[in-house]
Amino acid sequence: MLFLVRNVWRQTEALVHLDRLQHNIRVLKAELSPGVQMMATVKADGYGHGAVEVSKAVLSAGANQLGVATVEEAVVLRQSGIEAPILVYGAMPEQAASAVVDYDITVTVAGAKDIQILADAANGHHRPVRVHVKLDTGMGRLGVRSIEEMLNVLSHISDASPIELEGMFTHLSSADEMHLADGRVYTEMQRRRFIDWLDAAKHAGYHIPIAHMANSAAMLWGPEYHFDMVRPGIAMYGYHPASVWKQAIDLQPVLELRTGITRIARMQAGEAVSYGRTYVTEKEEVIATIPVGYADGIPRALANRAYVEVNGAVVPIVGTVCMDQLMINVTGIDVEVGDPVIIYSKRIESKASIQHHADLLATIPYELLCRITSRVPRHYIF
Ligand SMILES: *Cc1c(COP(=O)(O)O)cnc(C)c1O
Repeated sequence: MLFLVRNVWRQTEALVHLDRLQHNIRVLKAELSPGVQMMATVKADGYGHGAVEVSKAVLSAGANQLGVATVEEAVVLRQSGIEAPILVYGAMPEQAASAVVDYDITVTVAGAKDIQILADAANGHHRPVRVHVKLDTGMGRLGVRSIEEMLNVLSHISDASPIELEGMFTHLSSADEMHLADGRVYTEMQRRRFIDWLDAAKHAGYHIPIAHMANSAAMLWGPEYHFDMVRPGIAMYGYHPASVWKQAIDLQPVLELRTGITRIARMQAGEAVSYGRTYVTEKEEVIATIPVGYADGIPRALANRAYVEVNGAVVPIVGTVCMDQLMINVTGIDVEVGDPVIIYSKRIESKASIQHHADLLATIPYELLCRITSRVPRHYIF
């Protein structure tokens, strides 16, 4: 009996260049003052790249901690043998508390109830449970909303002996809009508020070992956002957090989505391609089929708008993107069945880059990366 853990025959694959990932970590670390830690954000399966492999690579390149969205994601990393500190950014479900204790996971707390739940789960264990208190300074998503609420949570933490206060953090809503006056003003307001709340905690006698606020955009904007730790995500994977920013720092896209041509058809003028006949040839054209579709994460909205790379040329996607296949116009290009096609290029300037596709769809590279489904095998390049 043959067990297939991943598709091994179809040419569609995501190449994950861990050497480029490690390069990005080193370039980002060079922006930090000595003593500032880096928490590498590996939520959503490492932005679609594969959280376990990404985590191992970034830790060996110098990241100090890992950040994930859910307790489940943290457990997967622990079960793969990763021992570095892992912070869960999201709210902790009550049912997850015993896993948090068992797997030595650091969690975000945003209310006194969280402390009680953790203290109950930790009862009888000898290990401390490390927590970071989340402050909502203007993101409007998670965290305590006032100094009084913060001091209340802090006092509950000091009363619950197994709970150890390791950090306080906030999240910025507009750090990728720092090129706009409005975004700058709002981000600066959040930073001021964060400093005020940290000061209030210190004046009340609390020691906060690790204060942190910066995602990729804030971290690249300047050291005044770094505090004791930064939490980059998208920049590690090689994308500039705001596409309008000058590429002052050498980030290299890590992921490349490739496949190979399965059919080449020489069509007459007036022939229809794909569902709904949204593309009809204008003259004699050569249309190639590739085995990748929206079930692999290629947005259907890219139909008749986006480009891919074939043998050094850039060619358009024609007709509707199907679930498992799509067609490209290779008229005038020297191609054969089996030739490689790059759908998401690792070259920043390519019309087939994720950034370019994201701009076309009025979204961000994050979304296209996270959309690449589990049907696409990830192959790691060291
Ligand atoms: C996702 C996330 C990050 C990383 O954001 P990027 O924009 O990818 O750098 C950092 N902190 C928190 C709380 C997050 O949710």
